[in-house]
Amino acid sequence: MTRVRDDAVAIAPELTRLRRALHAEPEIGLDLPRTQRKVLDALEGLPLEVTLGDGLSSVTAVLRGGKPGPAVLLRGDMDALPVTERTGVPYASTVDGAMHACGHDLHTAMLAGAARLLSARQAEIAGDVIFMFQPGEEGPGGARIMVSEGVLDAAGERPVAAYALHVASGLLPFGLLASRPGTIMAAADTLHVTVHGRGGHGSQPHHAADPVPVACEIVLALQTMVTRQFDVFDPIVFTVGTFHAGTADNVIPDDAEFVATVRSFSPQARAAVEKSAPRLARDIATAHGLTATAEFRDGYPVTMNDADELTFAVQTVNEVLGDGRYVAAPDPLTGSEDFSYVLDEVPGAFLMLGACTPDVDPFTAPFNHSAEAVFDDAVLPDGTALYAELALRRLAAEG
Ligand SMILES: [Zn+2]
Ligand SMILES: [Zn+2]
Repeated sequence: MTRVRDDAVAIAPELTRLRRALHAEPEIGLDLPRTQRKVLDALEGLPLEVTLGDGLSSVTAVLRGGKPGPAVLLRGDMDALPVTERTGVPYASTVDGAMHACGHDLHTAMLAGAARLLSARQAEIAGDVIFMFQPGEEGPGGARIMVSEGVLDAAGERPVAAYALHVASGLLPFGLLASRPGTIMAAADTLHVTVHGRGGHGSQPHHAADPVPVACEIVLALQTMVTRQFDVFDPIVFTVGTFHAGTADNVIPDDAEFVATVRSFSPQARAAVEKSAPRLARDIATAHGLTATAEFRDGYPVTMNDADELTFAVQTVNEVLGDGRYVAAPDPLTGSEDFSYVLDEVPGAFLMLGACTPDVDPFTAPFNHSAEAVFDDAVLPDGTALYAELALRRLAAEG
């Protein structure tokens, strides 16, 4: 039997073709019909049990191994972003205002490639592999919907482990993998605050109840809360991204409102800020004789790697791709990831994979979500081999 990695290199032209076809025709959100079609075409003829999503255009494929054993889940997200591409690559987006700026086209191609490689080894696989092709990672949380539609039970029993790779167009040198045990990505929640005052003439504030200075005070107090109520080693990030009030310089508005993104790195810090931030907003308004409504809305949870599964994944990287290909990330990323919904249910690991092009300095190259982010196809065989080997070796380890 040939090595999985050699087989992945042998199908590199096919991986590149699929990736570029996906890249040229990006789709955003939960409904990705043309992407779904391309995935189904790529899986055509393979011995897979395929089910399509109801509330989203997901593809769940199960490969039944020839030997008994548990199940393992591999996930690749498929959606693009509302970005107008400015890379100038020959396979650039042909869809106005949509771009695969987060590299999910590579994840989709690698996962389809892994399905092909593992299908060829069906007889030797000791258990089942669930391939999770997921829409809506960039919002509003396709993974959560797929979990609710039963992707974790697709093989008949809960998988013993789940893995996902994520390419990076910068930050990480080409071909290197990076992750860390425990928290790898932040939780991303939002705080929505409306301060309710009473409008009036701008020259006579004492006849009105001005919500603007109160809302400003809340914004500043929230930053004080960050430094006074949270452990410096378990921090949060609190950024007010929108702030709106009023229509004219001489009119005191009735209301002022703002929305903040709230990033946290542990379930404990997340629970604490969910309590303290709305209370702070309401109580400051009360102190000034106004009222505020403050709503903390859940976004993606903290993405937590299981320490044992990460150790296994690192060992797999070293054995399959060679020593020196893994670097331990010192800190989590402040971005968020809806694979967290899977890792909340199943132990697993999420690894970043450097995919910048050879002509750039990875530390200054445009990063994911940039209109100029370029991801190199050359990384596809290694990503494909790694997905396949993670499943193969993890199931073999159970036997
Ligand atoms: Zn992204
Ligand atoms: Zn992404």
